[in-house]
Amino acid sequence: MLETLRNFIVSEVGVGIFAVDREYNLLLWNRFMADHSGISAQDALGRNLFELFPDLPQKWLSKKVDSVFMLHNFAFTSWEQRPWLFPFRHNRPITGGIDFMQQNCTFMPVREADGEVSAVAVTVNDVTDVAVYQSMLKQAMAKLEESSSRDGLTGVYNRRFTEARLLEEIGRVERYQADTFSVILLDLDHFKQINDTHGHLGGDEVLCEVVARVRNVLRDTDVFGRYGGEEFLLMLPQTGREGAVAAAERIRKSIASSPILYNEVPINATGSLGVATYEVGAPKVERVKAQADLALYASKRAGRNRVTFYSAQMVDKELGAG
Ligand code: GH3
Ligand code: MG
Ligand code: MG
Repeated sequence: MLETLRNFIVSEVGVGIFAVDREYNLLLWNRFMADHSGISAQDALGRNLFELFPDLPQKWLSKKVDSVFMLHNFAFTSWEQRPWLFPFRHNRPITGGIDFMQQNCTFMPVREADGEVSAVAVTVNDVTDVAVYQSMLKQAMAKLEESSSRDGLTGVYNRRFTEARLLEEIGRVERYQADTFSVILLDLDHFKQINDTHGHLGGDEVLCEVVARVRNVLRDTDVFGRYGGEEFLLMLPQTGREGAVAAAERIRKSIASSPILYNEVPINATGSLGVATYEVGAPKVERVKAQADLALYASKRAGRNRVTFYSAQMVDKELGAG
């Protein structure tokens, strides 16, 4: 009766089950594994797993299995680390770009009466539905962000929108051949270290608080956008060198003015800034940004937590020093 029950479960469950001995010879190969691999239990049993499936990640898999033999405890792998062990087809009509059945695996020691581990049994769970759902969710989120002009974390403009506004402003200045505008690039100092010390969530909190402080010292017409992880671009319409440097200095001070509290722990944050002013007839749209970037780099090299205005000598100096 027990034997019948065991056979029934092993063949009927919707989960892959197989077992190997220390030489990786197959001791168990259930219906699920046979159906999905096209290799029957009759053909699989007694055969070496890696000979039967030469494409398996042998090094990785044997490390897992060996550790179960050695340490006598369970091991797990998740589709998020390794999407699949066996390249099984899945029959979902909607795939979200997922090609093979996504698998979570559990590796279990099979103990003999004397406590020795004689085999490792592995279950292969089909988690394709979870993966498809997550993949579709990710795509939807990316689309949503794409269609919006705001950065999800800080609420300032995103990079795409900031660049569009920059182009628009250049068009305006070129049309009227009059005004100018300035660009400030702001990059937080040693931000990697802040993340390392206070965790990614601590880093996120710093980003949000910096944004709040910077917003406080800007004019309504200024465009404030997140340009990369901890890098921001500001575009100040109708602002020349003097005004832009003054604004950058206000921004710098507002960030450094007092520690940012995260879970009641003070975090000292500073930023480096590079400033450049657009000149009418500048041959390239990219130029003012590149100039602000050189100035930012000079701020970093000079010790951070400072403002630098672009000067023509920088090109040679920074490139030469590289
Ligand atoms: P430097 O003073 O030279 O700018 O040093 P840095 O450590 O700030 O420079 P780096 O560019 O090497 O590091 C930036 C770090 O910002 C690395 C990245 O993990 C982190 N980062 C990027 N985006 C985010 C985010 O959205 N949240 C958090 N918490 N960290 C982020
Ligand atoms: Mg950076
Ligand atoms: Mg930085």
